[in-house]
Amino acid sequence: MKPQTESVLDLFRAAGAYLEGHFLLTSGLHSGAYLQCALVLQHPRAAESLGRLLAQELRKQAAEPVALVASPALGGLIIGHEVARALGARFIFTERDAVTKKMSLRRGFTVSPGETAVVVEDVITTGGSTQDVVDVLNAAGANVLAAGSIIDRSGGRAEVGVPRAALATLQVAAHSPGECPLCASGIPVVKPGSRPA
Ligand code: ZN
Repeated sequence: MKPQTESVLDLFRAAGAYLEGHFLLTSGLHSGAYLQCALVLQHPRAAESLGRLLAQELRKQAAEPVALVASPALGGLIIGHEVARALGARFIFTERDAVTKKMSLRRGFTVSPGETAVVVEDVITTGGSTQDVVDVLNAAGANVLAAGSIIDRSGGRAEVGVPRAALATLQVAAHSPGECPLCASGIPVVKPGSRPA
């Protein structure tokens, strides 16, 4: 594990953001561990530090200066905003329709033709949300240079069509519901994002 991965995970441990149990991930997979980024990002200084670190990694991946950072709501909002601050870029976000599940730009957000952009998310598992934002930006005429996340749970395997950066790359076991050993042992599954404190 890279030293940077350890120092990022230490931030999560210090914030009580490294949860163990039986979790339903946004991807639909189940996992015995969950990194609750919101618990780290509730501390603005930690959010700013992570944003600065991720901006450095994204600069290495992007061949040109970045004018725009875009994130999927809700998970990407705080870290995307902090990366944009560090890059001197503007920040916009996409939202997913509750019914159609289609990702789009709302609230009057627009993209200039050829505008250089990166997509930032808190955690990548399958890359699905980041890929959707890349597609929305490309369709709007942007030039998407790279994508980044605080945590990469895919072990580096997620493909989103552009170069990727992450502060911590993990190989966390995730199971489809039919093959989940935690389901088999009867432990109730919880959706970490929606669980009341
Ligand atoms: Zn399960």
